[in-house]
Order: sequence, then structure tokens, then C-alpha cells
Amino acid sequence: MVKYSLIVPAYNEEKSLKLFYDAVTPMMKGLQEEYEIIFVNDGSRDATREILRGLADLDKRVKVCNFSRNFGQQAALLCGLEMASGEAMIAMDADLQDPPEVALQMIEKWKEGYDVVHGKRRKRKGETVFKKATAFVFYRLMRRITGLDMPADTGDFKLYDRKVVDAILSMKEHDRLLRAQTTWVGFKQTFIEFDRPERVAGETHYTLKKMVKLAQSGVFPNTDYTLTFPIKLGLGLGVLSTACLITFIVLACCGINFGGLTAWLFPTVGLLAAIILLCQGVANIHTSMIYREVQNRPKYIVADKYNFDEQ
Ligand code: UDP
Ligand code: MG
Repeated sequence: MVKYSLIVPAYNEEKSLKLFYDAVTPMMKGLQEEYEIIFVNDGSRDATREILRGLADLDKRVKVCNFSRNFGQQAALLCGLEMASGEAMIAMDADLQDPPEVALQMIEKWKEGYDVVHGKRRKRKGETVFKKATAFVFYRLMRRITGLDMPADTGDFKLYDRKVVDAILSMKEHDRLLRAQTTWVGFKQTFIEFDRPERVAGETHYTLKKMVKLAQSGVFPNTDYTLTFPIKLGLGLGVLSTACLITFIVLACCGINFGGLTAWLFPTVGLLAAIILLCQGVANIHTSMIYREVQNRPKYIVADKYNFDEQ
């Protein structure tokens, strides 16, 4: 088993790969321990494949996995984690936006006993105001809706201990956001703050469509909120409509005919809508329970145990 595995998803990164390799190699060699660099070529259409082939021919520590088409960064990361044989794994972008010196600090934290070290972005250079704003909202909304204690402003730049990766790989769900699953599995986690530099070359591959898909994969597998919301809405509307109806009935009994027939329309329709929402909500609870069964996450994850071996 090698000690460290760097996992690098690469999609149309022909301009960055050599620069990335030249930046991380002296750093990894300096550690004087075994390592591998796993590049996952996510169906690139440029010269990424050939460049990686060249690097792998020169250096046996470079391992390359070529996807048959573009499956997305999350799939590429997952593949890298599955292929890696390290005791500690560090996921890094190919464009040097994840500084190698921060990876060294992550290794220090791992040696101190942390199982996950997140890279937390303090500043983000070279990114549009739109991207910064959507990222800002996403992390905070995601924490709120899912209740996951995900450190804000952390992307996929992380160090994982082998046991964390094993726990993540035991989750077989299709739709996944690794950074959410990393929080879900627990263990001892910390973060290192850094200023995110600009891309060394090329342009971002994250279109708005890809960002929406990513957000969706983060939110829906991790919360029932979207399914149980109709129940809350139905209860609110039901209480309001019933209170309104009771008031009108009391007024009518006292001989006060408030607003005529149309006034009765709001609470009556409101009550009917509330009943429909509640029925929908109950059906959604079933959907949510079926989803959890299909998702089939482990019921718990054991960090360590004592004295069992002696039995
Ligand atoms: N990436 C990938 N598949 C994709 C999109 C991106 O493997 O479909 C890789 C990309 O080559 C890079 C990393 O994921 O190494 C992050 O992508 P990018 O730099 O475009 O995202 P940003 O840093 O702008 O959020
Ligand atoms: Mg980038």
C-alpha cells in the first residue's frame, strides 16, 4: 500500500497538466514516502489523454484512468477514490487552484490524527461575482436544509483517511455530492483556510447547468425537507382556514353576516387545499421512506472498537 494518493479529475486540461505535475512532484518527493498520482480523464476532447499517457510513461507513480465520455467531476473523484491504494488520499483540481503547499499542511493535520482535512476557501480569485454569490448562498442553504455540518466554502479539495474513503465507498447511491457524504460519515474532521488562486490555464468547466445539477445531488439525497414541506404548508393553511371558518360561524350565529357568500369562499377553499396538501405530504413520507430504503446507506459507521478481538 502506498502512503499517499493524489486524485486529480481532469476534463480538457491540456494546458494545466504538465504545470500541475511539475508543481506536485517535487513536493511529494520531498516527503520521502511512497505516493501515487491518479489522474482521471473525464472524457476530455483535447490532448489530455495523450499528455497523461506521456506522463505515465515517464513516471510509474502516475496512474491514469480514461473515461469513455464526460461523466462529471464527482464521478471522476469517485473513480479515483476507488482506484487509490493510499493510506491518505488528497483530491485536487488539475488547474492548480488547489495549492500544493496546502496539501502538505493537510498531511501534517492527518499526521496529528485528523481523518478528514477540508480545504476552506477564504478568498476566490478570478471567479465571477455570479459564481461567488451562488457558491456563498449554496453552502449556507445546503447546511440549513440538510442539517449537515458541512464547513462553508469547502469544495472537493480534501484529504481523506483510508477509513473515511471506505465508509464513503460503502454508500452505493447513484446521485452523490462527495463533500456532503464526507460530512455525513463523520470521523475526526478539520479544515485549513487558503486563498484560492486563479486557474493556471484554460477556463472553468462549470456551467450554470452543471452547478444546478451539483446542488441537486447535494440537497435531495440528504434531506426530506422538500418532501415534508407540503405537510407544514397544509397544517398552516388548515389552521388558518379553520380559525377563519369558526369566526364566520360565530359571527353568523350572532346575526352578523360578514362579507356575504364570497367571504366564506376563502376559508372553504383554503381548508380543501390544506386537505390536499396533507394527503400529498403523507404520500411524500412514503416516497421518502422508499427513497431511504433504495439509497440503503449504512445504518451506522464504527470509528473504532476495543477488546473485541480477544473474544
Ligand atoms: N472536471 C472534471 N469533469 C467535469 C468538469 C470538471 O473532471 O465535467 C475537473 C476539472 O478538470 C478540474 C476540476 O474538475 O480539475 C474542477 O473543475 P473546474 O476547474 O472547471 O471548476 P471550478 O474550479 O471553476 O469550480
Ligand atoms: Mg478550477
